[in-house]
Amino acid sequence: MTGRVLIAGGGEAGLSIATTLRDLGYGGDVCIVTAEDTPPYQRPPLSKEFLHHDAELTSVQLRAPEFFLDRGIDLLLGRTVEAATLNDSGGLAVLDDGTEIAFDKLALATGSTPLTLPVPGMDLPGVVSLRTLADASRLRSELDRARRVVVVGGGFIGLEVAATARNRGLDVSVIQAGDRLMSRVVAEPVSSFIHEYHTTQGIRIVLETKVTGVNAQNGRVDSVELHSGESIPADLVVVGVGAEPVTGLAERLGLACERGIVVDAHARTSHPAVVAAGDCTVQPHPNGRNRLIAIESVNNATEQGRTAAYTLLGRSPGTRGVPWFWSNQGALKLQIAGLSDGYDDIIVRRDSTERLTVLYYRMGDLLAADSVNNPRDHMAVKRALADGNTIDPVCAANTAVPLKSLITHRTEIKHAQRVP
Ligand SMILES: Cc1cc2nc3c(=O)[nH]c(=O)nc-3n(C[C@H](O)[C@H](O)[C@H](O)COP(=O)(O)OP(=O)(O)OC[C@H]3O[C@@H](n4cnc5c(N)ncnc54)[C@H](O)[C@@H]3O)c2cc1C
Repeated sequence: MTGRVLIAGGGEAGLSIATTLRDLGYGGDVCIVTAEDTPPYQRPPLSKEFLHHDAELTSVQLRAPEFFLDRGIDLLLGRTVEAATLNDSGGLAVLDDGTEIAFDKLALATGSTPLTLPVPGMDLPGVVSLRTLADASRLRSELDRARRVVVVGGGFIGLEVAATARNRGLDVSVIQAGDRLMSRVVAEPVSSFIHEYHTTQGIRIVLETKVTGVNAQNGRVDSVELHSGESIPADLVVVGVGAEPVTGLAERLGLACERGIVVDAHARTSHPAVVAAGDCTVQPHPNGRNRLIAIESVNNATEQGRTAAYTLLGRSPGTRGVPWFWSNQGALKLQIAGLSDGYDDIIVRRDSTERLTVLYYRMGDLLAADSVNNPRDHMAVKRALADGNTIDPVCAANTAVPLKSLITHRTEIKHAQRVP
């Protein structure tokens, strides 16, 4: 295939599509149009190292500038794809400045955008959310001035920022509407472990209450009002209450969207000339469950981007790897292998206050594991899942036994369970 692939969005997914096209020998034009005015960069450090140190902007860059020249990838920064006409053999895109770009295939990698709270005061100076490098630079300078930080949301990003702020010696409170931290993604023992860690570090965690508003003094945030009636003083409020996929362009193109651009396992959208990858998509559940799932992670963005590039060239990418994710919250390193939703049993491995692994099973089969400060367990589970194996749940709680020695073929466990 020659011609031009136009990629809307220059994050991990967009970059992965472009580089894979070149790796596969695609000789046509590859053009990334991206809304931000920075070349592709990593988001994970933005809630971690980047807030800590005086890190240079270049430290988060995914590729040096010459990479794009060498690989013949055109990068159009600070521009958005606003619309496109589509036909079976390509189309014509229109950018926000009126520029028109003809393409043979279009790839959407438009990512997601932070949710906000529908309460008064969210637009006050000193109230920030975190998605982009510009947001992180702003947050970092706010942290330089702040003494009392309130983080709204006890999910990954909220807790990472809270840990970083606390490490910088600030007074930190985390407000979580649910009854435990990270309740959307981890089981109760992991939530409790993480809760314990953060409170030991001196972070105050307030559960089961909602923020009802943010108050100002002298035009700046001054306190956060809770539904419980409490008012917490704050000179910085970080809102980390989740993100929603950016689907405006896809919707204007008439593509199927269901809280994300609907793609199949090959990253194909409902139009033959368009693929999509990364946080903007919902995809078939990798565990074969009968529903679409949004997977917001670097691993998914790069793998799905790679798949999209193969699909654009009419080639098969082979099987996808095991989904995995990480979150560094101060000294606490959480690693997740697999997808745990739909589990009916968990096994907890804990031998100290420093380490924990929770394994998730469904009908006796291993689905996933969350490991805290336990990279060996994480690797063992990843390997078991990659090979289509399981880990014997009968012995898995015994921390004296390495998990990798318990990796077993799925049918052997099922057979053993049936024997009285
Ligand atoms: C602070 C933070 C910390 C994180 N930490 C971790 C972590 O520890 N581990 C992990 O696995 N994941 C982490 N993630 C999630 C991970 O970074 C994302 O899942 C991943 O970056 C998604 O990549 P993407 O390419 O799909 O989207 P994005 O990186 O969001 O890129 C999409 C780009 O498209 C642009 N765009 C949108 N619409 C248009 C348009 N119409 N035309 C042109 N451009 C457009 C956007 O401006 C954006 O630049 C973190 C995310 C954040 C924000």
